[in-house]
Amino acid sequence: MYKIKQMKSNLLTFYFIFFLFISNKIALGDFFLEKIRGDSIQGGLIIYKTNPQAEIFFKNDKINISPNGFFVIAFHRDDKGKHELKLIYKNKTHLVNLYPKQRKYLEEKIQNLPKNMVSPSLEILSKIKKDIDDVKRARMKFSKNEDFIYNKFKWPLTGRITGVYGSKRILNGKKRQPHYGIDIATASGTIVRPSASGRVVLSKNLHFTGFTIIIDHGYFLSSTYSHLSEIFVKEGEFVNRKKIIGLVGSSGRSTGPHLDWRINWKNKRLDPKVLSHPMYIHYPISRPKR
Ligand SMILES: [Zn+2]
Repeated sequence: MYKIKQMKSNLLTFYFIFFLFISNKIALGDFFLEKIRGDSIQGGLIIYKTNPQAEIFFKNDKINISPNGFFVIAFHRDDKGKHELKLIYKNKTHLVNLYPKQRKYLEEKIQNLPKNMVSPSLEILSKIKKDIDDVKRARMKFSKNEDFIYNKFKWPLTGRITGVYGSKRILNGKKRQPHYGIDIATASGTIVRPSASGRVVLSKNLHFTGFTIIIDHGYFLSSTYSHLSEIFVKEGEFVNRKKIIGLVGSSGRSTGPHLDWRINWKNKRLDPKVLSHPMYIHYPISRPKR
């Protein structure tokens, strides 16, 4: 009996991988799993739809499902190997094994940064620690916004890309954390709009990232906008895609006016470029009238 069950479950696994590959959709009885968007790639995100009553685990981490049956999983810069997606529906377990595609990352060297920005003093370290806590808390806020499910993310502005996701960073000759954002250089004062609608969960001046806004898009997805010269939104405010949230600047650890744009899912850093429409929508490069 046990052996037969085991075989059946292996067969199911096989079917899943096969069907996901061919049609993005699998249906077994009244159970179904459909891939709406995205790929298994480092820094990538996948949106699925399934039975709203299903229980979902991704690498044993419980995943929230929307009332309409949508859910999200994502991959960090360095994720590799088997990532098991488990769906339990009407006491039956369905498995999908995902293997994020490996990427190669650039190496960036930045010289002549002020010394206190690369090796901060003790008193600045305690301010940085508080910043990190605030950012973590903001990113762990949970809501059920679904805008990003129905529309891909969009670029918050257009400009010259001067920094890419995942690059290894050497600042003043010292090895530092990889760069998780996309840097878009453009004139100081250029207006910035959110990548998707959502709730502002952080809006303040931080040591490294200067004037910073974090927006919660739902299901633990958030976007971050850094080095702004001005901020026009308050924490708790709900913003749509058209809202002007701030202006490009060079606040914090920055060598010139640019926007550092990031997207996170839980504690995973995603590549905004992979999740977004191409950068073709143009916005006026003037300061908003106030
Ligand atoms: Zn950056």
